[in-house]
Amino acid sequence: MSIQKIQTEARKFALQNAILFNGKANEKAVTGKVIAALKKDGITPTEIIPVITKVVTQVNSMSIHDQIMELTSLAPELLQREKKERDFSLPPLPFAEKGKVITRFPPEPNGYLHIGHAKAAIIDYEYARMYDGKFILRFDDTNPENAHLDFYDAQKEDLHWLGVEWDTEYHTSDHLEMHYKLAEQLIKQRDAYLCKCTSEMIRAGRFNGKACDCREDRTGEEALDLWNDMLANPEVGGIFRLHGEMESDNTAMRDPTLFRVIEAKHPLTGDKYHVWPTYDFAGAVEDSISGVTHPFRTKEYELRDAVYFRILSLLNLRIPHLMEFSRLSIEGMPVSKRKIKPLIEQGLVTGFDDVRLPTLRGLKRRGIVPEAIKQFVLQQGFSKVESVVNFSLVESVNRKYLDSKVKRYYFVPDPVQLSVEDAPKKTVKLSLHPDGTMGERTIHTSSTFFIPKEDAQKMKIGDILRLKGLYNVKIVKTGDTLTGAFAGDELIPETFKIQWTTNDYIPLKIIVPGFIFKDEAYNPDSLHELQGYVEKAILGIPFGEIVQFERVGFVRLEKQKNDLVGIFAHK
Ligand code: ATP
Ligand code: MG
Repeated sequence: MSIQKIQTEARKFALQNAILFNGKANEKAVTGKVIAALKKDGITPTEIIPVITKVVTQVNSMSIHDQIMELTSLAPELLQREKKERDFSLPPLPFAEKGKVITRFPPEPNGYLHIGHAKAAIIDYEYARMYDGKFILRFDDTNPENAHLDFYDAQKEDLHWLGVEWDTEYHTSDHLEMHYKLAEQLIKQRDAYLCKCTSEMIRAGRFNGKACDCREDRTGEEALDLWNDMLANPEVGGIFRLHGEMESDNTAMRDPTLFRVIEAKHPLTGDKYHVWPTYDFAGAVEDSISGVTHPFRTKEYELRDAVYFRILSLLNLRIPHLMEFSRLSIEGMPVSKRKIKPLIEQGLVTGFDDVRLPTLRGLKRRGIVPEAIKQFVLQQGFSKVESVVNFSLVESVNRKYLDSKVKRYYFVPDPVQLSVEDAPKKTVKLSLHPDGTMGERTIHTSSTFFIPKEDAQKMKIGDILRLKGLYNVKIVKTGDTLTGAFAGDELIPETFKIQWTTNDYIPLKIIVPGFIFKDEAYNPDSLHELQGYVEKAILGIPFGEIVQFERVGFVRLEKQKNDLVGIFAHK
């Protein structure tokens, strides 16, 4: 009597614990709960402990979906806490009025977007929607050395994929003439000057907090001439600096550069312009003039906020309500174009869509869906606290999203042959999802099967296993291949259920991406492969679709050359 009671209690708490922790219950935690629950019945820990291990192992071999289903029927009250939908909406914006909020996402078209950009774009976009406002896509393409034509469209494609849609779109490079006019105004007001010092001198001046002679000599008429010379002829050189505060504690205010000469050909304006605004100038002016009310910037710009406000107030332009959030960093992943580019240049990854990269294209290939990225971003919120996030958080929302939506199949990693004596020939229809909404596949069986090596190795003569969805097999011979005997159709409780294929299988390679950085350095061991057999029904799945291989994980199917290949998303 008491053993059954212990088993039931253990099962309930193991399921609850597993559901809370990504499908894997912790034996200690479960033991604690069971002991506490059965104390009143006078059942002692000595009776309880031996039962727990087996129950936990069994529960841990189930999919989260099955765990939830079982707990729902066994003890639905234990699901309560987990089931409650969390509210991931963003906190209200300060000084925001319905219908009047304007946000913008300002990527530099110098690469494909990554999950950090997704954070920025989703927050900008969601706030505009929350307030029935407007969302602008602005290409900050004021460095012709970096901007590339291909990336304008690529970034738009990436945003469409994410589900982020914008109301208007423009390029900062469309507005250069206006920027020049504003620069002239600053010179005329003696709030900016042309500096002809070498970069070493400029650096030393900033370091020592000392203004150079250019500032004193060249405000006013002479500076205006120099500025016009610079605009007319790139050879003239020099940089255009704000008359800031050289003695300021905030080094960003020590006469920052607002314009400089860059002679590279621009993808949109060609060689029409060679004087380009810096981010300090272009960012502030564009936010103001395009009507943005709440521009978001990452925290690393904090010191530059003073420059932003100074420029706008000197130009008498509207000052938006600048907002800040932390830059997203993920352990073992480069969430920055600056870190991704060298990996591509050195040939350490196959390209921007390498499955180990957190680019939207890389994530898409490894089966991370846009809905999960959005959930993840909103879940993180936009606190200013810099933190390094673990990628398992992305996987966990992705898993929750996919679990009820993708078809399930059997994949047998490291297959070992199992021959079944007296095997009845069967035609079985197996459901593609336990909820029964996705149809089924038909499998014809003979006497030859393949099962995972990991399971095969555990088998001893006399053990009974169940080929999941088919029948029981009693092991009669072990070794490199197994032999078994048909042992009935009846479900025997607690029998180990194993995924299998017939000899009508498809060989499949699954690429398993790992962390590309280990202790900040490139990890050469970041890509693994899993070889195995998959049931033939997989051929009915279109390339690009994600499936769940039971007990293996979620895998996206992809065509590489002429082969079907799987990319592992996560358990
Ligand atoms: P990268 O190093 O990837 O080039 P970046 O900030 O220079 O980063 P931009 O294209 O200039 O890239 O960025 C466009 C927007 O995306 C900016 O508003 C920036 O703040 C935001 N952004 C970029 N990377 C991240 C990140 N890791 N986390 C949050 N926001 C980011
Ligand atoms: Mg940038």
